[in-house]
Amino acid sequence: MDLREDFFNYQAQTTAFASAFQVEKAIGSYIYGKGGKKYLDFVSGVSANTLGHSHPKILNAIEEQSRKYLHVMVYGEYVQEKPVALCKKLAEHTPDPLEVTYLVNSGAEAIEGALKLAKRYTGREEIISMINAYHGNTHGALSVSGNEFHKRAFRPLLPYIKFMRFNEVEDFTFITEKTACVITETIQGAAGFIVPEADYFVRLKKHCEAVGALLILDEIQPGFGRTGKLFAFEHFGMVPDILVMGKGMGGGLPIGAFMSSKKIMESLSHSPKLGHITTFGGNALIASAALATLQEVSESSLMMQISEKEKLFRKLLIHPKIREISGMGLMLGVNLGTAENTLNTAKICMDKGLIVFWQLYRNEYLRISPPLTLSEEEIWEGCKTLLEAIKES
Ligand code: PLP
Repeated sequence: MDLREDFFNYQAQTTAFASAFQVEKAIGSYIYGKGGKKYLDFVSGVSANTLGHSHPKILNAIEEQSRKYLHVMVYGEYVQEKPVALCKKLAEHTPDPLEVTYLVNSGAEAIEGALKLAKRYTGREEIISMINAYHGNTHGALSVSGNEFHKRAFRPLLPYIKFMRFNEVEDFTFITEKTACVITETIQGAAGFIVPEADYFVRLKKHCEAVGALLILDEIQPGFGRTGKLFAFEHFGMVPDILVMGKGMGGGLPIGAFMSSKKIMESLSHSPKLGHITTFGGNALIASAALATLQEVSESSLMMQISEKEKLFRKLLIHPKIREISGMGLMLGVNLGTAENTLNTAKICMDKGLIVFWQLYRNEYLRISPPLTLSEEEIWEGCKTLLEAIKES
C-alpha cells in the first residue's frame, strides 16, 4: 500500500500542488515526517494549533471527556458541562455586551450564523464586506469574501452585498440605513496580514451605530491570543456587535463560534424559532479541547510573551529580499516580492526542516503563524533556516 498514492487517488483534491508531506506524529512545535525527520512548524495548521501539537492539557481534557460521552444530542437541547463552561468563560473574558456564544463546527459556519443573525436582528438585507476579505468557503461565507477569482465560478452567490476598501474611512458612505451589517476581519489574513489604522475600528463602529448597522468582526485567525490579547479587537478601543471565532480556539480540533449580546442572539429563537440548527455544534469533546485552550491562554503568561516574540522575529528577519513584514503578534507576513520567490523559499525551507506557507490571495507574502508556545530558541532556529532559504531561492 502506498499511502501517498492513495491520498491522490481517493482523498478528494482541489489542487494539483499539494505538498503531500506524510505526517507521522506532532509534538510541541514540531511535526515529524515519515522516517522520523522533524520539522519546525511556523504555520500551526494555518493559525489553528494555538498551544502547539499534542499539548498535555488538551490531550487530558479530550481523554477525560471521551470516557464520559461523545455526542448525545443536537445543539442546544441537553445541558453538557464542557460547552456550558466554555461559553461562560468566553463571557467572562470578553467585554460587554458580548455575552452569549453559539458554538458551531467551523469558521465558515460561524460566519453563516453571524450573517443570519445580523439580518434577523436588523430586519435588513444588505451586507457590506471588504475587498480582499476571506471569510470561508461555504456559499454565504464566499459571498462576503472579496476575491473575484475564487468566487466567479460559483455565482449566483448571496445578493445585496457591497464591498468597501479596508482601512478607508472614505468608504463609510457605503454603510447606510439599509445596511444589516458590516463584516470584516480585524486583521485581514489572506490579503497578507493587513493591520487596521489605530482609529479605524472606533470610527467604523461609530458609523455603524449611527445608521443602525451591526458590526461583525471575524477573529477566526487572531482568536485566542495570537496578537497578545485574547481577541485582536481589544487593541482597537471598541467592541463588535457580533464576534466570530474558530481555528485557534479549538487547540487542534474543529470548531467555530459567534458571540453577541443576549438581546441580539435572541432573534434566532423566534420567527422562525431554531434560526440556526447544527448537529455537532457544541460537541462535548471539542468543547473540552477549546475550554482547555482558553484556560491555558488566559491563565498562563503566553499572551504576555507575544510582543517579545514578534520583536524577535522582526529583529532576526532582515534581508535585502525581504521587502516588508506585515501583521501583528504571531501572525506575520514576510513579503518576498513575488509569488515565485515565496514558493521557492517555502520549498527550500521544507527540505531544511522548517514549515512555512503563503497567503491565499497575496502569494508574495510568506505566512508565519506558529504555535503561541514557540520558544525563543525555536524562533532563532527557524529564522536562521528561513534566511538561508531566502538566500538560496
Ligand atoms: N475567516 C477567516 C479570517 C479565516 O482565515 C478562515 C479560514 O482560513 C475562515 C473564516 C473559515 O474558517 P474554516 O476554514 O474553519 O471554515
